[in-house]
Amino acid sequence: MVQRITKRGGKKGHKGKSRSLRSSAADRIERVFFSHCPTCHNALKRTHKNDTHTVEDIPSPETTPVVVTRYEKERQWVYTLP
Ligand SMILES: [Zn+2]
Repeated sequence: MVQRITKRGGKKGHKGKSRSLRSSAADRIERVFFSHCPTCHNALKRTHKNDTHTVEDIPSPETTPVVVTRYEKERQWVYTLP
């Protein structure tokens, strides 16, 4: 069985707008490990050694709320005496 532990990485409220895949911080880190060998089913111990694999998900317009802003522009003008 594969288990995943999610923890926050990077700074909160600091989402990269145009960072590349090779850049430093991930928004979240998921530790993935087996509790048992998928082949022989023997129990496996946890280790500090790991391989990394980074996936960048592009937000979907269907799941990410669209922000609609209505600008109420005040009808201002300067009164000048004729
Ligand atoms: Zn095995």
